[in-house]
Amino acid sequence: MLLNLPLSRSKLDRAAHLRADQAAIDELWSRAKVIEMLGDKFKVTSSGLNFQSSKDVEGERYFLGLDRDGVPYFVAHRSTDQKEFPEDFKSLRTIGALLNSLEIGAAVHALALTQWHEAHQKCAKCGASTHPTFAGAVRECDSCEASHHPRTDPAIIVLVKDSSDRILLGRQKIWPEKRFSTFAGFVEPGESFESCVSREVEEECGGVVTEVKYLGSQPWPFPASIMIAYEAVISNPDTVKADGEEIEEIIWLSRSEIKEKCGSGELLLPPIISVARAMINAWYGPNAKEELQGGESWRN
Ligand SMILES: [Zn+2]
Repeated sequence: MLLNLPLSRSKLDRAAHLRADQAAIDELWSRAKVIEMLGDKFKVTSSGLNFQSSKDVEGERYFLGLDRDGVPYFVAHRSTDQKEFPEDFKSLRTIGALLNSLEIGAAVHALALTQWHEAHQKCAKCGASTHPTFAGAVRECDSCEASHHPRTDPAIIVLVKDSSDRILLGRQKIWPEKRFSTFAGFVEPGESFESCVSREVEEECGGVVTEVKYLGSQPWPFPASIMIAYEAVISNPDTVKADGEEIEEIIWLSRSEIKEKCGSGELLLPPIISVARAMINAWYGPNAKEELQGGESWRN
């Protein structure tokens, strides 16, 4: 069964056929619900996104799609170097768990797209300036006219198990104390997802993968990833060890052990919006939400 992943719940129709029709885009903009973004932060209310009218926003506008009733959604984005933000601008990591399916779909698209635009102001072929076209779905070079399309970087994430259905979690040096999570890594050029799973598990803990099962995928626009989730059984649970570089500690956990360590505060799980948490909760069973508490928030 595929996972029900928190950032994969989009209900927006991207309506890509409208992107080339400037008159249609202008008409949609005039009656749009607009997500206002400053850098990578969203304007919010206490319960979700604070949609604006197109008359009231500044910045670059990009089309996101239509809801079921044909209401158009755009993002209006302003770049910023500032480190401090007004109280009502929050990161997707902070607000992700609060948003409904429509808001999530619009927000992950908006974040991934605006981060890409911001990082691709210059042509990768000739170095000249670029400008957005197709309602923000493409950038075009002002000089050589090359078209540049948004990129998404695939990364695998894997729940490592042994034959008695325990799971193996690891701790990265850069994480908050006591936080453990599943293993993950970027897919390299020319590599399949399945090969990447085996390589990452081998590199990070020395595990030899014997079975791989696909669990689902979720956009992870921090800034441009998609996480492809697997579970993997390894054949050498007794000889795994942390690589000492990326991962500094690993731990095998049964269901009763994870419950006990979460309850005592000895173990901090990954945040609710992450694939890692969804994989751990699905493995644990239907009582995960009540019995595995803690670690809900992210380091902003
Ligand atoms: Zn160019």
